Amino acid sequence: MVKSNLIISLTILTLIFLLSGCNFSKQQPEESPPPDSSEEHESEVDDEQSEEITGESNEKEEFITLPEEGLQKGDEGEAVRILQEFLNELGYSIAITEQFDQETIWALTDFQLQQDDNMEVTGLYDQQTKDSLELVTVGDIEIKPGSALSYEKNASLDEETVELANPYEILALVNKKHALPADYIPDDLVVPDVRFTFVEDNPKKQMRKIAANALEELFAAIDEEDLDLFAQSGYRSYETQDNLYTSYVTTYGEEEANMFSAKPGESEHQSGLSMDVTSPDVDYRLITDFGDTEEGKWLQQNAADYGFIIRYPLGKEEITEYQYEPWHLRYVGIQAAKEIMEQGITLEEYLGEN
Ligand SMILES: [Zn+2]
Repeated sequence: MVKSNLIISLTILTLIFLLSGCNFSKQQPEESPPPDSSEEHESEVDDEQSEEITGESNEKEEFITLPEEGLQKGDEGEAVRILQEFLNELGYSIAITEQFDQETIWALTDFQLQQDDNMEVTGLYDQQTKDSLELVTVGDIEIKPGSALSYEKNASLDEETVELANPYEILALVNKKHALPADYIPDDLVVPDVRFTFVEDNPKKQMRKIAANALEELFAAIDEEDLDLFAQSGYRSYETQDNLYTSYVTTYGEEEANMFSAKPGESEHQSGLSMDVTSPDVDYRLITDFGDTEEGKWLQQNAADYGFIIRYPLGKEEITEYQYEPWHLRYVGIQAAKEIMEQGITLEEYLGEN
């Protein structure tokens, strides 16, 4: 018994020694740390933290930070390059040209067409587009590049006319050398809430939503001046233009008809971005005298503030290939409209296509 008690006591002592030895060896560095060990420790923590931060920021930098300013056709430089690189990150494979070119416009248009109905399809890089592009980076939006609009170059219709591959863009040039596709019908046509020269329902009351909203603002502003502006004719389908042109050619001959009427596909009215307007002072007719009315003069001065231009100005007939039409408004967006109207140029000149 005594022997076994001794063995138990020795075992306990050994255990106590071992345990305290363990404690000792564990505690020693904390009780008497080497002079610079805490610094080392801190710097280790710093390294770990900075690695974490770097890791996090690398993840975020998979997507480029988008430019803050709006961009559109004809713009060039660093901001455009960043936008192009971003679009390529999304899966578009466009050339990095630093120019807001047709490929860039195509990628943006295709992206916009894949968003919900609230997205304005413009081919511009604006705040709404920027916000949606950013939603892709956080996984809130998924897109399939090219699924809404495949990239094509403008196809030749004949020796001097091409067919626009992207009829959606707000700065699309539609004229006798640039035609809209025969099957292009804007899918966001609405009737603007403005005064018309007639009351019945008619497809020609329609415009694309972005232009209709802008026209409503223009009318609200001109109403403040107690002027009497009336809308007359907006959207016109390819078929309607075809019938109209054919009847003009029958009546006036082709050469004369071409001075005031567009061939099917070549009318801006098919784009849904144009509206003919008039006033009581010219008996609601579409005649050049409208330019001298108070309403006509007001438009010349103020239409650009709402994104509209007088598309066929006086003295530019050789460029536009149309007579002066002070009644024909075309929506191009506020930035382009101001530059065009302030400089007294045509859309052709603005886009370098004259
Ligand atoms: Zn017109």
